[in-house]
Amino acid sequence: MTDMIRRAAEDIAAAEYVVALTGAGISVESGIPPFRGKGGIWDRVDPMTFGHIDTFEESPEKVWRVLIRDLKTIIEQAEPNDGHRGLARLEAMGRLSTIITQNVDGLHQAAGNTDVIEFHGNCARQRCMDCGNRLANSAVDISALPPRCGCGGVLRPDWVFFGEAIPEDALRRSGQMAARCDMMLVVGTSAIVQPAAHMPIIAKENGATVIEINPERTPLTGHFSDYLIRGRAGAVMNGILAALEPLMAERSR
Ligand code: NAD
Repeated sequence: MTDMIRRAAEDIAAAEYVVALTGAGISVESGIPPFRGKGGIWDRVDPMTFGHIDTFEESPEKVWRVLIRDLKTIIEQAEPNDGHRGLARLEAMGRLSTIITQNVDGLHQAAGNTDVIEFHGNCARQRCMDCGNRLANSAVDISALPPRCGCGGVLRPDWVFFGEAIPEDALRRSGQMAARCDMMLVVGTSAIVQPAAHMPIIAKENGATVIEINPERTPLTGHFSDYLIRGRAGAVMNGILAALEPLMAERSR
């Protein structure tokens, strides 16, 4: 792994325009369980059922009780980890331009990244199904479920449920960034959920180097990614930064 980390640091130092695509895996070390793999709420909640807009529209009370309330609580208590902080440090060093994240936890912004495309929205806000008004979680009363807007409409998370379209702006900008970058870091995603999983393919087809950071192989591995650094996001990012910082200092001399 040390050789791969060194190689990644050299590739990042040499790149002109670096973009990251992140998934639930980067937030695992912050205590938020990913969809795939054991842990917490997903052992008793099927995300494809309870995370689907049809289920929410049929029984918002049930989806709030079974899924949203717990996930919202876990996310509200979570703090950025070394993986998030590492990406924030890359931006501060001028080595990372944009993060496209599938996560709804807001932890990249909390770590300090300033250009984060929220591909699947964010769970820190709730949106009224009737009037479209958006409310911060702190302004939402969940003592009775589902919570309601002042207009009486049902409140839903401002995220993208399965069965819904990706926000147009996020999709357009992500495609542009993927086509423009010459390096894409793909961190903690199983690369199964579409169309997010297509971003590394766009990057590769436009000549970028694609590096995966993940303890497991994904459908990108050996096909669309140049190499996989097998490990947890926090430890790998720490390793990359430790190798990158002296390289960047040398370059600025
Ligand atoms: P996923 O759950 O399908 O896959 C998680 C991936 O992370 C796996 O490939 C796993 O091997 C890897 N992983 C696990 N621990 C890791 C670690 N410590 N470091 C690096 N990688 C690690 O996640 P996905 O690909 O993002 O797709 C699932 C969907 O789930 C996304 O659309 C996302 O919106 C949603 N989701 C988000 C959150 C969150 O906001 N934190 C949490 C759960 C699910």
